[in-house]
Amino acid sequence: MRIVIAGAGAMGQMLGLFLQKGGSDVFLVVRRAEVKDKIEKTGLSFTKYGEDKPSEGPLNVKVYAGEEGIRSLASEKEMSRGADVVFVMTKGTDTERIAGEIKPLLGRDTAVVSLQNGLGNVDIIRKYVSEDNIFYGCMNLSCTVSEPGVLSGSLFDGVNVYIGSCTRGRRQEKTGRSIAEALSKGGLSAEYTDDIDREVWLKLLVNIAVNATCGLVRLRGGEAGTDPDFISVSVDMVKEAIAVAAKMGVNIDFGSFMSETLPRASKTSGAHYPSMAQDMMMRRVRTEIDFINGAVARLGEKMGVPTPVNSTVARLVRAYQNNYLKQYYPKASSSGGKPVFDVTVEPKYCKNCLYCVKYCPAKVFESTGRVVEAMNPSSCVGCMNCVAVCPEGAITISK
Ligand code: SF4
Ligand code: SF4
Repeated sequence: MRIVIAGAGAMGQMLGLFLQKGGSDVFLVVRRAEVKDKIEKTGLSFTKYGEDKPSEGPLNVKVYAGEEGIRSLASEKEMSRGADVVFVMTKGTDTERIAGEIKPLLGRDTAVVSLQNGLGNVDIIRKYVSEDNIFYGCMNLSCTVSEPGVLSGSLFDGVNVYIGSCTRGRRQEKTGRSIAEALSKGGLSAEYTDDIDREVWLKLLVNIAVNATCGLVRLRGGEAGTDPDFISVSVDMVKEAIAVAAKMGVNIDFGSFMSETLPRASKTSGAHYPSMAQDMMMRRVRTEIDFINGAVARLGEKMGVPTPVNSTVARLVRAYQNNYLKQYYPKASSSGGKPVFDVTVEPKYCKNCLYCVKYCPAKVFESTGRVVEAMNPSSCVGCMNCVAVCPEGAITISK
């Protein structure tokens, strides 16, 4: 099977690794050329949380960068009739872009599969792909990437990937089952199901319970989950979402979700910051809030189900992500004048756009005329403005 993973971040690289291991021909599409170079050089490997050595890989896969990479992949002989499967694995905020870009890879029967977080991605993909070819589902595993191709995470006990189709028919079922088989062969247990909306909602509920709120309180899932106020907000949001799901014909029992599904998910991922918390605290980028709590609020309004807590959390996260550049950070002087942060600018990537010079409140950067250098790193207050504004990802701030 010729499988393209479009938008290969942590989850996409993980899929690629297990599909390649199972014997599929995998083609990863990443955003940046340096990520492509790194994965081509070192391959993909996966280490279970808590272990030192990879349990999978390194495995080599073919990698392409950006829209140009997609066009070059589409011109290869093996893609003359399109890919068999294209997984859409970007964050929801990038679905519109990638759904347009993958067009040259689509043949008459190419299956386009979204395993993205939340609700709303399929509605976007539908604008670009025939509904009969769209599949969607969810992944029950956690994965982080420390550097391109170097993955760590854990797989939930039971089914790791659920897949279903937008329209039901013999062809859709056959294709869905063969995609699940390709994943299972590599070691990710996968299932095609007619009841996919239930699985997607269950995964959504896990995200609703902890994802955005961990970002707001700046805690890991396991830490936040012991706080009674945090728990009561989670419970309110989950109850609202279950009421919306019920109105849409998906019935989920609150008691068994809280006593079985959520603890099972927390067991594998509670020691880490959920993805939206990472986006808010570390990457400081636009989050998937409108595909998670925001989606519940939107659907609630449409179906006449009140969702005040989800709506409030969605509005708070939007306010948070709209104001990264103005947020408070401690001053270096709070450590007795000692430098708190290391500032590194990778000259290979710096295009001398001077955004970091403009937005750094501590005047850390100066331009040499060709690139920018961190001339006064000891003044850094760790505000992360530079990381947020650098269009090339050239700056690293570490403690
Ligand atoms: S994190 Fe970046 S922008 Fe903020 S003070 Fe340090 S160097 Fe300047
Ligand atoms: S923002 Fe990034 S690319 Fe622009 S000057 Fe600073 S380091 Fe270079």
